[in-house]
Amino acid sequence: MVKKIQGNLWLEIPGYAWVALARRGMEKISLDQCFLKGCENQDIKMLEPLKKEEYEDEKKQVKKIHIKCKKCGGIFQLELITLKKVARPMQKGKQERNQLDDDTEDLSMGIVNALDETGKNIGNIGFF
Ligand SMILES: [Zn+2]
Repeated sequence: MVKKIQGNLWLEIPGYAWVALARRGMEKISLDQCFLKGCENQDIKMLEPLKKEEYEDEKKQVKKIHIKCKKCGGIFQLELITLKKVARPMQKGKQERNQLDDDTEDLSMGIVNALDETGKNIGNIGFF
């Protein structure tokens, strides 16, 4: 496997994620933005992918892309989880997902979360 650093890491990141709205279907949001609290950077040129971590088990493949935001100076990670079994994706834990299960089941092939620099989950972004 070739490990490429820098610019090419953008190829690993879907351009958009789908956010499920409770009653109004899905909304598309760009992943080319900073997800750190209080930062509104949506300029891809101000974001620098640093590195990628990747692992998988029998249920899912997980990619974590570490991204530095040149606007707020922070580092965050995009966690891209691809579920291998789409039929019954596991969606446990999160209260904020309580309404999503039924509507989004067929679309839940990939989940994208935002993590902070240390890997702490700072929010579910959506699906890809
Ligand atoms: Zn930022």
